[in-house]
Amino acid sequence: MSLFIIILSHMLLVKHVFSAALLEAGEDSRRGQDSLETPRISARSAEGLLLALPPACGTLAYIEEDNGIHGGTLKRIAQLVQMTKTLGSPQRDYVILSEGNTSAKIDSRSFWVKASGSRMAHARSDGFLKVDTTKVLDLVDGPDLKEAEMGLRLAETKVDLEAPGSPSIETAMHALCLTTGGASFVGHTHPTAINAILCARDAASAFANSLFPAESLVCGTPVFVPYGGPGQALARAVRDSLETALRERGESPRALLLQNHGLVALGESPQQVLDITEMMVKTARILVQTYALGGPRFIDYR
Ligand SMILES: [Zn+2]
Repeated sequence: MSLFIIILSHMLLVKHVFSAALLEAGEDSRRGQDSLETPRISARSAEGLLLALPPACGTLAYIEEDNGIHGGTLKRIAQLVQMTKTLGSPQRDYVILSEGNTSAKIDSRSFWVKASGSRMAHARSDGFLKVDTTKVLDLVDGPDLKEAEMGLRLAETKVDLEAPGSPSIETAMHALCLTTGGASFVGHTHPTAINAILCARDAASAFANSLFPAESLVCGTPVFVPYGGPGQALARAVRDSLETALRERGESPRALLLQNHGLVALGESPQQVLDITEMMVKTARILVQTYALGGPRFIDYR
């Protein structure tokens, strides 16, 4: 009887070890599949969560916990990294070098924004900074600031002042899109196809109306924003345009067309930001070609 019990216990032990090994192997293979984008929690400490970034990054990053919803925060920054890399893909020709920037709302007090100088195609989770929304918005309505001063003041809006890097000079524009604009994710790019029109003399009238139904369906009614220099001037132009659109239409726009600058897509999700950007680029390509045959024939779907 005792021999039977010993054999049985050995069988159970072997089964347990084998199952654990299988489970671990499965976890590893799953991690391998999404390790390119998804950071893993490797430890908790007083500083917050220690994230193990993909091996290729060869680095670790601390992400502060937010009201116990760190799981949601981790998912959000992983989504932001993936969205940024997609928008920054060289084949798309939406940005080159360190052009463009992206952001994602964390809660009513803070958001992630791309650090200044980093390339969207190479986005990583430690290339984003968490900033205080109220402090950023205060810079829009405060005293006039030149670009260099704005950069210094934006560095003071970091939730972790010791975090390396400075928030993008266009951080205030993102703050407005994530508050007044009602977005959860924002993608700002400089697509060649769109800037070919935005840098033209008749840019505002060229984008005056819709060309085809899918454009209206995906992008709504884009808002044309008069030129504002980098930093505070651009943010003020965006603030005025968003407030005017809300007052006149009763809803936030999904796309901003920045004169002599580029596109801003305001989405509820990363996919919506990608969809709006793709559709606006297609619209711009078609729009330019209509001028070879007498110019655009607008159709008002609104
Ligand atoms: Zn820009």
